[in-house]
Amino acid sequence: MSHKDLSRRDFIHTAGKAGVVAGLTGSVLTSFANAGSVHPVLLSAPDPVPYTQQPLPYSYTSLEPAIDAMTMEIHYTKHAATYAKNLSEAVVAENVNTSTMSLEDLLASISKYSTKMRNNAGGHYNHSLFWQFMNAPGKGGAPSAALTTAIQGSFGSMDGLKTKFNDAAKARFGSGWAWVIVKKDKTLDVVSTANQDNTLMDVSEVKGIPLFGLDVWEHAYYLKYQNKRPDYIGAWWSLVNWDYINNRYSKIG
Ligand code: MN
Repeated sequence: MSHKDLSRRDFIHTAGKAGVVAGLTGSVLTSFANAGSVHPVLLSAPDPVPYTQQPLPYSYTSLEPAIDAMTMEIHYTKHAATYAKNLSEAVVAENVNTSTMSLEDLLASISKYSTKMRNNAGGHYNHSLFWQFMNAPGKGGAPSAALTTAIQGSFGSMDGLKTKFNDAAKARFGSGWAWVIVKKDKTLDVVSTANQDNTLMDVSEVKGIPLFGLDVWEHAYYLKYQNKRPDYIGAWWSLVNWDYINNRYSKIG
């Protein structure tokens, strides 16, 4: 992983600890690979997510007007913080050694654990990435040449991707996420997952590495948009942090 990019944004304060996690992840994956039991999509999963909630990389007001400060504050300090807290309880209750088992590996074997683990490991992982997928309007850069080529190859064009992604986000009944994922064959796809599931989970119908995604739970938009989820989805594109996503893609593709 690139510590430089993350530490620049104060995402991970403990670069040394993150380095240890990354190292362990590599060795765990290698040993699983040698045993022939590794979850195939995880061989190149980038940026291991720590088990604890990390600081937001910007202020609550930074994403306005697309996402208002009150929504961001409640989302981060209440909803996302609760997933992290409940995950910390579940890993103790279910004897997960978090110094040797990465969160990504846990997700890849989530069927062996409780519903509480599934909901909160997913919730914590998804939100940890979601904050990174966004930046203030005008500060997200643009898709890299490599990512643009991949998008054209899988969706025809950026408009093709957006149409498919927006449709998936709108069509998710109840609570969940829309994702762009990198599949094992390195192509991109758009999928939607229910609740706090994601495509790293062994229970996921479609598997792949989340490249970026959108939280379409009502808690993510209801204060400003009420029932108008499509308006939230449309406004969200102004926040996409292509610089982060390009870097993430460079480690997967
Ligand atoms: Mn959320």
